[in-house]
Amino acid sequence: MSLLVFDVITIFPRFFEGPLSFGIVNQAQKKGTIGIQIHDLREFTTDRHKTVDDRPFGGGEGMVLKPEPIFEAVERIYSRQLRREGRVILLTPQGRRLSQQIAKDLSTFRQITLICGRYEGVDERVAEFLVDEEISIGDYVLSGGELAACVLIDSVTRLIPGVLNNERSRVNESFGGTSEDVGSPTPSLVLDFPQYTRPESFAGHRVPEPLLSGNHEKIRLWRRRKALEKTLKNRPDLLQYASLSEPDRRLLNDSLE
Ligand code: SAH
Repeated sequence: MSLLVFDVITIFPRFFEGPLSFGIVNQAQKKGTIGIQIHDLREFTTDRHKTVDDRPFGGGEGMVLKPEPIFEAVERIYSRQLRREGRVILLTPQGRRLSQQIAKDLSTFRQITLICGRYEGVDERVAEFLVDEEISIGDYVLSGGELAACVLIDSVTRLIPGVLNNERSRVNESFGGTSEDVGSPTPSLVLDFPQYTRPESFAGHRVPEPLLSGNHEKIRLWRRRKALEKTLKNRPDLLQYASLSEPDRRLLNDSLE
């Protein structure tokens, strides 16, 4: 039995044929670690025209997804299993912003329902009375929740134990935090260190010397320093200087000098 089943509610079921059929998410489905079930919102309508949207009360542009088919779809999904084992999520730019930590928390559920909006959005009663939480994948507006659902499925799936072939590849990963952060009230999140592969010299650019040295301690320190530098350069918001360990501070000070 799957460790985690995603149920996706959408008006474009065929959207998901491509994005979920490659790499780790594909393997996890084949192994049966995760299950993904796509539900066509139109199948939960009761009128002849299979209407999923309507004009907004109060006037204004565009259309809004109606509440009844969405409530009906969620009810049908939970006739299959206990709702308390699952999580119902509305994808919306007005939600909490998805992070590695949120993905980690979600990876412990047995089932996750994802509701994809379209047009001007979804009748607010879905957010108010149906879902457990609203999640956004970033501060920009997409034309639909389907891409956001794929992003969430991918980021959550690779955090389920046994999904990555090499579990250690998660240890130094960006946003992972590390053991060096433990105990700090606001841990620093450090980005991954830079990676190089062959050739040793490409267009005159050489692979940094420490990586070729074979000296494990030297490599470890170099990677940590580079990870800290990259974080400071591109994402200073992630680095709480006060919560860095003493060795980290020394490494960072060395590079600032
Ligand atoms: N009028 C809304 C945007 C609607 S966009 C507003 O301004 O807040 C249409 C649908 O795309 C949304 O219902 C949502 O499901 C999806 N969507 C758009 N941007 C998103 C984002 N950043 N994260 C998650 N879902 C998003």
